[in-house]
Amino acid sequence: MDIDLKIINNSGLRKILIVGVFHGDEPQGEYFINEYLKIKRNKIKNSLYFIPRLNKNNNRTNKNGVDLNRNFPTKNWKKSKQDDYFGGLRPSSELETKFLVKLIGEINFDAIVTIHAPYKIINFDGPALGLAQKVSKILQYPVQEDIGYPTPGSFGTYCGIERKIPTITIEIDENKAPKELLGRFINLFDYFAFEY
Ligand SMILES: [Zn+2]
Repeated sequence: MDIDLKIINNSGLRKILIVGVFHGDEPQGEYFINEYLKIKRNKIKNSLYFIPRLNKNNNRTNKNGVDLNRNFPTKNWKKSKQDDYFGGLRPSSELETKFLVKLIGEINFDAIVTIHAPYKIINFDGPALGLAQKVSKILQYPVQEDIGYPTPGSFGTYCGIERKIPTITIEIDENKAPKELLGRFINLFDYFAFEY
């Protein structure tokens, strides 16, 4: 299985990882990222690492029926029932999870962003309140620190809480056509490219 990783400027000052489509039924991130890559920005200050589509499946879980956002080797990972939130038979059992764990072990990211739907909020983990407020202003969704339910084995817990990397989880509005939201995402990616 190949996971696409597209890097813009690999000698930037700060490094930002942006991941689309953790959940296959939330496909919008792939569109925003691919449209941004078409612009071909140059002379950017930072390095942007884009994964347009982590999960190639079309429903929430990957092809093995695992919720990738519950499969990370965190202290709170636990075996769960085999529903749409199934965290796998063991932590880091999935190739997609292993890919991200390896990448985060190799590169010291200054920020990590994932794109989900449909809650219309900006959630964050780790030292990321200020960044979440900035993202909130650009995307026009409110900051909500606690998403309201436990997320054992989540990517945010792995990167933000346990590794102290500022981690932002964007939950977009799925009732809007992705095209309507594209301008905001271009502004967001430009912020990470030129300002952050
Ligand atoms: Zn999601």
